[in-house]
Amino acid sequence: MARISGKYRLRLTILQIGCVTLILILIFRVGYIQLFRGDYLTGLADDLHYRERTLYAKRGDILDRNGTVLATSDSVCSISVIHNQVEDAEAVARLLSQELSMEYEEVLALVEKKVALQTIKTRVAPEVAERIREAGLAGIQIDENFKRYYPFGSLASQTIGFAGSDSQGIIGLEVTYNEYLQGINGSLLTLTDAKGIRLSGSEELRKEATEGNVLQTSLDVVIQQYAEQLLERTIEQKNAKRGAIIVMNPQNGEIYAMAIKPDFDLNDPFTINDETLAAQWDSMDSESQIEALNQMWRNFCINDTYEPGSTFKIITSAAALSEKVVSLDETFQCNGGLTVADRRIRCHKTGGHGTETFVQGVQNSCNPVFMTLALRLGADTFYKYLKAFEFDKKTGIDISGEAVGIMYDVEDVGPVELATMGFGQSIAITPMQLLRAAAAAVNGGNLITPHFGTQVLDQEGNVLKTLEFPVTEGVIDPEVSQTLRQVLETVVSEGGGSKAAITGYSIGGKTATSQKLPRSAKKYISSFLCFTPVEDAQLMTLMLIDEPEGIYYGGTVCAPVVKELLENILPYLGIEPDYTEEEALLPEVAQIEVPDLLGMTLAQARETAGETELDVLGEGEQIIEQFPLPGETVNMDSKIVVYLG
Ligand SMILES: [Zn+2]
Repeated sequence: MARISGKYRLRLTILQIGCVTLILILIFRVGYIQLFRGDYLTGLADDLHYRERTLYAKRGDILDRNGTVLATSDSVCSISVIHNQVEDAEAVARLLSQELSMEYEEVLALVEKKVALQTIKTRVAPEVAERIREAGLAGIQIDENFKRYYPFGSLASQTIGFAGSDSQGIIGLEVTYNEYLQGINGSLLTLTDAKGIRLSGSEELRKEATEGNVLQTSLDVVIQQYAEQLLERTIEQKNAKRGAIIVMNPQNGEIYAMAIKPDFDLNDPFTINDETLAAQWDSMDSESQIEALNQMWRNFCINDTYEPGSTFKIITSAAALSEKVVSLDETFQCNGGLTVADRRIRCHKTGGHGTETFVQGVQNSCNPVFMTLALRLGADTFYKYLKAFEFDKKTGIDISGEAVGIMYDVEDVGPVELATMGFGQSIAITPMQLLRAAAAAVNGGNLITPHFGTQVLDQEGNVLKTLEFPVTEGVIDPEVSQTLRQVLETVVSEGGGSKAAITGYSIGGKTATSQKLPRSAKKYISSFLCFTPVEDAQLMTLMLIDEPEGIYYGGTVCAPVVKELLENILPYLGIEPDYTEEEALLPEVAQIEVPDLLGMTLAQARETAGETELDVLGEGEQIIEQFPLPGETVNMDSKIVVYLG
C-alpha cells in the first residue's frame, strides 16, 4: 500500500469532517420540514393545480395553381367532462346524450367515471358544441380542434396525400410540406383548486396557436379531372390493372396533373377500397392490413420501376445524335431482327422494316436500328448518357418514397445487354425518371426537377417563400435537342404516334409497348409520351396502361386518349392552334354561323343546315328549340341539337 504523506492525511481529515457536517445539517433540515411544516405543504399541494389545455393550430390549406382549395381544415370540437366540477351528473348526461346522439346510460357512465378529464365525443360540429355551451351546465369542457378535409375526395389522392388526426402528414405533399402546413399549437394554463375550479383572481396563461401556412401547387384541378376521367375510362375499356397520366411543363418541371388509378378517398384513407380485400379485412392480421393500405396509397409513377421499352429510344437517339454516330438520312436494313454475339434479337415487326432511314427507323420504332446505335456508342459512352440523364438518381420530386433506376454495372454489360438497352429493355426506371429525361432531351438539354410545390403563402395570401428546384443544364447540346424534337414530330405526323395528331398543333412523341417480366407471361405496359408545341413545348404528357387486355400497342391504346386530353386542355391553357391554309378548310377547323332553324319542319331544317348534322330530340311537326342558338359561330363538323314540339 502506498504511503500517504502527512500533508495529504490532514487534507483528507478536513474533507471527512466537512462531509459529515453537511449530512447532519441535511438530516436536521428534512426532519424539521417533516415535523413542523408537513401539514402546510400537503395542504398547499392539494389546493393548487395547473390545468393545461392545448389550443390546436389550424393546418394550412393546399391550393392548386389557380387557388382552388385541394386540402383544408374544418373547425370541430371535442366534448369532455371534468368529473370534480360536475354538479348534476344526470342533467349533464341528458344534455350530452341528446346533442351528441349517444345512449343516455353510456354517457352517464362516462360522466360518473372518477377520472380528472373524460372525453365524451370528438369531431363534433361547432354549432352542436355551441348549443352545449349555451346550456351552461357545470363540468363540461369544450375544446376546439380541426379536421382535415379534402373537397375533391379521391382527386390526385396519391399526390396530395393526407394528414392524420394529430395534424401530421402521412403521405404525399402533406408529408413533404408538413413543416410549413402544420402550424404551432398553443396552450392555456389555468390555476385551479383541488376540484379543478379556476382560482378566483388567478390569471390564465394563454399562448395562442399559430396557424399553418398555405401551400400553393402547380396542380390544375381542371387538367387533373380531365386526365382522371380519360384514364378511368381507358382502364375500364381495356380491363387493365392500373394506369397513369402525368402532365408536366417540360421547361420548368411544374406538374399540372398526375392521375393514377385505382385511387382512394382522401377523406377516408384507412378504408380499403379493394372489394376482395374488404371482404376478408377483419380476418387479416394488422401487418397485412398495413401492407394492403400501403399498396392502395402507392404512387407507382415514382415508387416503382419498369422496363420503359420504346419511349427509351428518345434517350438512345439523344446519345447517338450527340456522339454523331448516326445522321438523319443514313439508311439501315431491318430483316426482322439483328444477330448480336450469336443471339438473334427480334424486331417487333417479324417480317422486318426493310430499308429505312434513321428518321424512318424512329417512326417505325425499329429495334435493330436502336441496337445498332447502342453498339456503335459502346457501353462506356452509352452509360455516360445514362448518368447525364441521371437514371441512377432520384428525380428529386417533392413526394417521398422515390425509387431509382436499376441497371447493370457497366463492366457487366456485354453486347446483348447493350443492344437491348438501346431499345429500352434490360434497364428499369420509374415513369417519372423517363418523363424528366425526355423533357431534357427536347427542352434544349436542361435536366429539370419535377415538382408540385410552387409557393408558401400566409393566411392572407402573401407570398412567404417561392420554392425553387435545381436545374442541370447542358445534358445534351441545344442543337441536338432541336434535331431530336423534329424527328419526334414526324413520329406523330407520320409514324406510330399518328393517332395523337391534332389539326393545328405540332406534337412530338413516341409510343411504347413494354413486355413485363417474365416475358413468358405475355403481359404488357402500353405507353405514349408526347410534347407540344414542338418548338418551346409547354406540355409533356406520359400515359401508361398496365396490363391492358386485347390490343396492347401504345400507339393504339394510349395515343388517341392523349389526343383527347390535349384537345381539351390546350385551349384551356390558352395554347392556340396554328393552322396551315389547307388545314383551315377542314371541317373540324372551318367555322360556320349557326342557321336559324326555329319554326321549320325537320325536312326544311335538314335542307337549311346542309352538311351540318342535326341531333333530333322530341316529337312534333316543328322545331321549337335549337342548340347552339342561331348566329353563333361553331366548327363546321359540330352538330346542332333541335327539339321538335
Ligand atoms: Zn424493324
